[in-house]
Amino acid sequence: MDFITEEIENLKGSALYRTLRTIEGAQGPRVKIDGKEVILLCSNNYLGLADHPGLKEAAVKAIEKYGVGSGASRLVSGTMGLHQELEERIARFKGTEAALVFNSGYTANVSVIPALVGRGDTVFSDKLNHASIIDGCVLSRAEFKRYPHKDMEALERLLVGAYGHTPLLPKNQRCLIVTDSVFSMNGDIAPLPEIIELAQRYGAMVMVDDAHATGILGDTGKGSLEYFGLKSDDDIIQMGTLGKALGTFGAYIAGSRELIDYLINKARGFIFSTSLPPSVLGSSIAAIDLVEDEPSLRQALWEKTWYLKKGLESIGFDTMGSETPIIPVFVGDAGKTMEFSRRLMDEGIFVSGIRPPTVPEGRSRLRATVMASHSYDDLDRAIEAFSKVGRELCLIS
Ligand SMILES: *Cc1c(COP(=O)(O)O)cnc(C)c1O
Repeated sequence: MDFITEEIENLKGSALYRTLRTIEGAQGPRVKIDGKEVILLCSNNYLGLADHPGLKEAAVKAIEKYGVGSGASRLVSGTMGLHQELEERIARFKGTEAALVFNSGYTANVSVIPALVGRGDTVFSDKLNHASIIDGCVLSRAEFKRYPHKDMEALERLLVGAYGHTPLLPKNQRCLIVTDSVFSMNGDIAPLPEIIELAQRYGAMVMVDDAHATGILGDTGKGSLEYFGLKSDDDIIQMGTLGKALGTFGAYIAGSRELIDYLINKARGFIFSTSLPPSVLGSSIAAIDLVEDEPSLRQALWEKTWYLKKGLESIGFDTMGSETPIIPVFVGDAGKTMEFSRRLMDEGIFVSGIRPPTVPEGRSRLRATVMASHSYDDLDRAIEAFSKVGRELCLIS
């Protein structure tokens, strides 16, 4: 097994070796690492729900009533009343006929894409889509066509190519366009109306990954379709996660009743895995209630997002076209990015560096994320530290 030692040396040599960092206590705007309190600026706990009292209470209640485990996969004996209740709650929230929960966003993507397309079909994917989408596409064995980030002309050229100059797609051949709505490493938003228009014109299916949009985008936090003023359409396959803004764990697909019934029969990550436990289900229902009942959380998140983004841009950083609480700070070199992250930690600011293979070579960056629970003082301290360390590393003048 010498290759393991060699590979680890290679990773270390190119500043790509990764290690775990342990947070003491609960997730919040400030956390303790190695006994030291730092401002947490790299969590997807956007609305601060991960340690919300109402969600904790819902989890405890669910445990007391239903126990800690579901005991089996959904199709065997692991479907409990709470699964159904959560799925109905998600469908009502999203305005779709039905919904189905998955054990994580990763599982949803690697299960659903291969259920929709297979050998002989074609899947079109934005080059900056999340790794779980890429893995789902590869696993599907469909022809995998990647288009440059948000480039609709390139997507149309690929769609035209898939038709082989016939006016209509050969019968029984399926096409799927799949995209992040909020791109997880850039924080920008996919041109969904254009994608949907192209899909309709070319008879392709559309699947949108709302992992970073659920609870955040749109007036009532329903996600990307609401953001664009598009009605929830049962023809569009909407995926979203529960572990980010909703503060719990797991994922969902929302769509037509027929799509959900199909996935119950075809999505392998749904079929062959023990179902989510009662605590997660109970707290997820409470999370959706909160997202609907307390719009002030989302408003605070957006106000603080613009505050931090403007602050970082005003001292000279490139935030890479971010339009959401995901605010990348461009660095370029992987080694320098990790040095930046280490020095910010010394200043009491926890921001993770993002480097290959998560992003392309030469496109390393810090990735700051805002939470509704940050105070303006937290954000001011962060901007100050970015300014100090950025100047020391000659990234800004
Ligand atoms: C985080 C993320 C996922 C994976 O979701 P998990 O529930 O964390 O497995 C999928 N897609 C995107 C775009 C993500 O950001």
